[in-house]
Amino acid sequence: MGKTIDVKTFALNGTANGRGEIHRRIKYESELSRDFKEKIAEIAYGEKLYSCIQCGTCSATCPVSHYMDYTPRKIIQMVREGFKEEVLSSSTVWLCASCYSCTVECPKGIKITDVMYALKREAISSAYHSKHFPASVLANSFFKQVLDHGRNSEGPLLLKMYLKTNPFMLIKNMKLGFKLWKTGRLSLKTEKIKNKRNLNKLLKNIEKAEEAEAK
Ligand code: SF4
Ligand code: SF4
Repeated sequence: MGKTIDVKTFALNGTANGRGEIHRRIKYESELSRDFKEKIAEIAYGEKLYSCIQCGTCSATCPVSHYMDYTPRKIIQMVREGFKEEVLSSSTVWLCASCYSCTVECPKGIKITDVMYALKREAISSAYHSKHFPASVLANSFFKQVLDHGRNSEGPLLLKMYLKTNPFMLIKNMKLGFKLWKTGRLSLKTEKIKNKRNLNKLLKNIEKAEEAEAK
């Protein structure tokens, strides 16, 4: 009791690009979220997650790892160590382009892309993710639009994203938006599918099946 752990060396010994080190200091290990890895492993195809050898192949093959605050290798380690807050508020999960190269190359067969998807889901339902980060706002608004109307409408989606993240960009891109609208390539209307009831039924059945599977 009472020992101080330097999280930076405890969890992430060595960094690929010198960025994204964790500086949170914890006093007790209980400050970490110990059930986080189980939850993510459950959604992202199981316990293979625990067998990561930290070889860094995923980070080396990832085409966008240079833009991420934590590389895929670090994210896997952070999930295992219980750094829930840092993982869910990181830009990494939102920058993942779902290209699957990390998953294909991982020598331990860890489904890293699925881990990223699981983290996106968790981030959306948690209080940690940035409500102003464009990729997460876009993903969230896209999901809500499809849920409400059965279809995505690009115009309203972009409008929402700019208003929530950077209204100045909306002003900057207005001229381009107007040109696209004039040539019929961008609509400001919210499109809807005809039979929304069928979609609701389908979603309810998926929910029920997921609940049954979890029991
Ligand atoms: S490639 Fe696989 S084993 Fe290697 S660091 Fe990434 S997740 Fe871990
Ligand atoms: S799936 Fe995501 S994390 Fe994996 S290599 Fe592609 S962009 Fe990187």
